[in-house]
Amino acid sequence: MQFGMAEKTEKAGKSASDKLLDDVFHVFENYLRMCKMRRTPERYAVIRAIHCTQGIFTIDQIYNRLIGEMNFHISLATIYNTLELLEKSHLVLRHQANWKGDPRLVHYEKCFSQDIRHNFVCKECGNTFRFTDKSLMGAINRIKRSGFRPESYTLFVYGTCSRCHNRQVKAEKQQVKTTRKKQ
Ligand SMILES: [Zn+2]
Repeated sequence: MQFGMAEKTEKAGKSASDKLLDDVFHVFENYLRMCKMRRTPERYAVIRAIHCTQGIFTIDQIYNRLIGEMNFHISLATIYNTLELLEKSHLVLRHQANWKGDPRLVHYEKCFSQDIRHNFVCKECGNTFRFTDKSLMGAINRIKRSGFRPESYTLFVYGTCSRCHNRQVKAEKQQVKTTRKKQ
């Protein structure tokens, strides 16, 4: 598949989205069969919740969607276990930034389709800003390595969003003021 093809399919509407979900179920089913694990309704509900999510998400976001919008009762532990399985079956990507050691702060992203993903990710709040850059795509497509056939890629550039940056600057100024008062 050429990079960028999935993007066009996604724009085709609901049927493309349903087809994508079917494909994801198929991949996951194969993985579960291989590991001799059960196909439970909870695991499929987690996939459905992730499917409706755009960009990066946390366990809490999936939990709230399932409990609230989808009215599906499930424990955080089950969601966590399912995410681990989805990660192992390469359907979900776990971000490797420093999320302060709290599993509830870990950020995930679905890899259901092979669409182009260029992302700026804020390390503080997890907000993601997506963009497409043709020159980056071209540069990556031009990289050749013998013994490796590239299929898709995702690029994450970690940093701080303007909102978090402003908050940090404010906090620093406040800190300086307090220190001066004390002196
Ligand atoms: Zn931020």
